[in-house]
Amino acid sequence: MIKIQNYIGGKLIDPAGNGFLPNVNPATGEVYSQVPDSDERDLELAVQSAQKVFPQWSSTPAQERCNIMMRIAELIEQRLDHFVKAEVNDSGKTVSLASSLDIPRAAQNFRFYATAAVQFATEAHVMESGTVNYTLRQPIGVVGCISPWNLPLYLFTWKIVPALAAGNCVIGKPSEVTPMTAFELSKVCIEAGLPAGVLNIIHGLGPNAGMSIVKHPAVKAISFTGSTRAGREIAATAAPMFKKLSLELGGKNPNIIFADCDFEKMIQTTLKSSFDNQGEICLCGSRIIIEKSIYEKFKERFVAETKKLKVGDPLEKETNVGAIVSKQHFDKINYHIQLAKEEGGKILTGGNVIKMNGRCENGWFIEPTIIEGLPWNCRTNQEEIFGPVVTLLPFETEEEAIRLANSTEYGLSASIWTQNLSRAHRVGAQVQSGIIWINCWLLRDLRTPFGGMKNSGVGSEGGFEAMKFFTEAKNVCIKL
Ligand code: NAD
Repeated sequence: MIKIQNYIGGKLIDPAGNGFLPNVNPATGEVYSQVPDSDERDLELAVQSAQKVFPQWSSTPAQERCNIMMRIAELIEQRLDHFVKAEVNDSGKTVSLASSLDIPRAAQNFRFYATAAVQFATEAHVMESGTVNYTLRQPIGVVGCISPWNLPLYLFTWKIVPALAAGNCVIGKPSEVTPMTAFELSKVCIEAGLPAGVLNIIHGLGPNAGMSIVKHPAVKAISFTGSTRAGREIAATAAPMFKKLSLELGGKNPNIIFADCDFEKMIQTTLKSSFDNQGEICLCGSRIIIEKSIYEKFKERFVAETKKLKVGDPLEKETNVGAIVSKQHFDKINYHIQLAKEEGGKILTGGNVIKMNGRCENGWFIEPTIIEGLPWNCRTNQEEIFGPVVTLLPFETEEEAIRLANSTEYGLSASIWTQNLSRAHRVGAQVQSGIIWINCWLLRDLRTPFGGMKNSGVGSEGGFEAMKFFTEAKNVCIKL
């Protein structure tokens, strides 16, 4: 049984209350490690460590901060297999995805923001009178970063690294469902020589460990990725304290397919955008909106391709769809499949739980599921399911496609498939989502702004947007 520890003041330590939570491998159903059940006492210790080292870290030359972060990236890459295995056992995601996406991207996050630290520049505004303004962007101090379970190390580092690069000291809280790679990262940070207290990692539950970060008056900014529900609670607590807030929340993303698309490319990408990571990517397209003239052709081919996906042991290389992250989430997805049936949906393929043999006999697996025949405004087409479940919705006109795409409370991402350049621009401009992909999906340039509209979030991550979020802008005006 592995005992995970908090990383506070440069040391790995047990939680003050000595309480631990069970950590389960979702592919086997086995409890295989213990996660600290931290509370405000642990947070207080972390805040003190962070405050103590902040003057030193914030005045460390950017090049030195860059060098340390580069070392961390190298160490993650050197231990790629170890990190991949930890991520797979913790989350149920496939080894192919963890080794091609999650862990390489976590190392890339370190490299990207290590170099951003040395390239970050500020503006100057020269007035006609000869007066000069320049903007100082100074680190905020101690900041909190809270992340979810679906892309554990990838999203955790996407937050903590720009905060560190900008000169802040960080209290990070990974999801209690997938804490292992953040624990492994603690060890790497110690080895790389990150000064004690610059990064502190507190493990535990959202309402305890997470909320204690949000409530603490010394934590001046909160960067959160997770559900819209938790985002709302965090905003309600942090807003009256005037904390800076970046909220990356849920989605119900449309995948709009016009008849003139490159059909083969669209089918292959739509399979991925529907079922990669068991549909547990915030950017997955869960509502597939298809032009009526190709609806039947699309349906037949998409169902046939989906049936070929191999659901199985996440540790096997040829597995396409792994285990659902937790029993609680497994129950939620099954509830939604049942609800879709009650709402009159027709299951075209999938819809069932899969019972594995051998190592995974007690794991949580669900067949990739395609549903049709549901109205746009039913719960299945409005609520985030966050699993291997998609619905098909036909449309006749471009206006109808846009209306359907915009018909939920969410606005995170959208894919649009068409060969008509004018239409691509026109529809892209009208779909209310922070991220639009035309003839592609999950193609990421880390310099671009990343964030949602409507109830999918507030603020942007990515590139210098994140560096700006983690700094205070101060204008200095000089009369010459
Ligand atoms: P969640 O909101 O339950 O938890 C996310 C994190 O917040 C966890 O670390 C959790 O412990 C913590 N937390 C929960 N309640 C809290 C509270 N009241 N105060 C402080 N911290 C709290 O989300 P989840 O189930 O881990 O993740 C799935 C959700 O995340 C989905 O809705 C998905 O769309 C969303 N997500 C969004 C993005 C994005 O970029 N917009 C990316 C990935 C996931």
